[in-house]
Amino acid sequence: MTPLEAIIRRRIEAEGPMPVAEYMALCLAHPEHGYYHSRDPLGRGGDFTTAPEISQMFGELIGLWLAQAWTDRGSPAPFALVELGPGRGTLMADALRAAARVPGFVEAAELWLVETSPALRKKQWEALGKYQPKWADRLEEVPAMPLFAVANEFFDALPIRQFEIRSGALHERMVGVEDGALTLGLSPAIGDEPLPDHAEDGTVVETCPAGRTIAAEIGARLAREGGAALIIDYGHDTNAPRGDTLQAVKDHAYADVLAQPGEADLTAHVDFRTLSRVSEEAGATGWSVRSQGALLDWLGIRLRAAMLAKAAPEREDEITAALDRLTEPEQMGTLFKALALSGDDIPPPGFSEELGA
Ligand code: SAH
Repeated sequence: MTPLEAIIRRRIEAEGPMPVAEYMALCLAHPEHGYYHSRDPLGRGGDFTTAPEISQMFGELIGLWLAQAWTDRGSPAPFALVELGPGRGTLMADALRAAARVPGFVEAAELWLVETSPALRKKQWEALGKYQPKWADRLEEVPAMPLFAVANEFFDALPIRQFEIRSGALHERMVGVEDGALTLGLSPAIGDEPLPDHAEDGTVVETCPAGRTIAAEIGARLAREGGAALIIDYGHDTNAPRGDTLQAVKDHAYADVLAQPGEADLTAHVDFRTLSRVSEEAGATGWSVRSQGALLDWLGIRLRAAMLAKAAPEREDEITAALDRLTEPEQMGTLFKALALSGDDIPPPGFSEELGA
């Protein structure tokens, strides 16, 4: 039994079953045994790989996206360049190297990294120290100024609540202990979350209260201070409930979400429709969601891949494989999506209405 499982069991024994969101929050962010707290989970030697760790092209194109969005808004100076959940800092290092070609961008940027993990803050310092970053636990701590923000695979790591519909009522999914093991069960009927449309018995519905709070904060800042934000993650862009999407990954393979709490990464599909709606309610413009493949194509990933391959012919196969992994529909191209938000009606790069998703 992991040390965290012992803590979770004691808590359940004392207070009764806990909502899935509380379980997920403990697994990911317990101050001593939380998954992200003490380790770097990324890359080959870790549990999973993300787009910026696959290829430098990803961060570079996002850097150009940020710089173009900044230029289109009159190059405000100073501004807050914010990354939520920066992992190893790879995306931002690639982004700043590429965006440095846009005069004034790096000089005007005050770099803020929203990160709770001490282990990853250290990695970020190693990758980004020369830009004198500042760290915040929450976006609220970043001072008020024009905001240009990016979040890749951040929202999928925020705790979700899960509900099941039984006889027309919502019951929350709870983690309890039965026969000496952690198990999933249901709470009595509750009324604090609205029933989705067309809800059928047995349907699992997920909500992400932390994601909604952060999207509303981004939207309010963009509306007040100006700027643009890009949210990339795996998930869906529909109103219909998508069922149970909570998953555990360890050593690059799926695992049981209740096995080894604190030792596996837990994520859930991001509900882009809700993030967009919530930030619009806070005053921002939410642009039509694009697939990651379509956005990277629009930003010129094929040209960039060709340039890299020309500069290093011995790496051509590796570059082509990375390009396919990031853009092909059966790889990350379609499941991963991008949502752009802005404080105005200027289309962010790749989000003008004409482009198909
Ligand atoms: N964006 C990076 C890392 C993704 S992993 C990449 O694409 O490689 C998720 C990141 O979000 C990690 O840096 C993790 O520590 C951070 N994170 C998770 N939950 C968080 C929270 N509630 N507040 C701040 N950071 C969080």
